Amino acid sequence: MADCIFCKIVRGEISSRKVHEDEHVFAFHDIRPLAPVHILIVPKAHVASLYDCDQSHEAALGRMLAVAGRLAREQGATDGFRTIINTGRVGRQEVYHVHVHIIGGPDVLPGMIVRK
Ligand code: AMP
Ligand code: ZN
Repeated sequence: MADCIFCKIVRGEISSRKVHEDEHVFAFHDIRPLAPVHILIVPKAHVASLYDCDQSHEAALGRMLAVAGRLAREQGATDGFRTIINTGRVGRQEVYHVHVHIIGGPDVLPGMIVRK
C-alpha cells in the first residue's frame, strides 16, 4: 500500500527503531511509548485490520505472537507485558495496518478496561 505509514516503515522509506525482521513480520519501537517497553509487531504484507484477515494471514499473525515474548524480554520486559491489537472505530485503531502492541516495563500496568 503506497500511502500506509507502516508499509513505508517496512520498506525503509520512513525511519524506525527496528528490533526484529523476518520473512513475515517487522517490529519496531512505538514513536509515542506508553511504557518503558512499547514495541509494535506488524505483518510485512499490508492488511488493514483483523476484520480483513483470513486464513491467508495465518503465518504472519502466528509469527507476530510467536516472537512477542522473546522481543519483550530482549527489550527489558522480563516480568510480564501486555499485548493489544486495536481494531476499528470501537477499538480506537489509529493506523490501519494490523499491529500488535507489546507494552511493559518494570511497573505493573493499569487495569485494562475500567469496570463500571
Ligand atoms: P493504534 O491506535 O493501535 O492504531 O496504534 C497506532 C500506534 O502507532 C500508536 O501507538 C502510535 O504511537 C504508533 N505510531 C504511529 N506512527 C508511528 C511511527 N512513524 N513510528 C512508530 N510508531 C508509530
Ligand atoms: Zn500497510
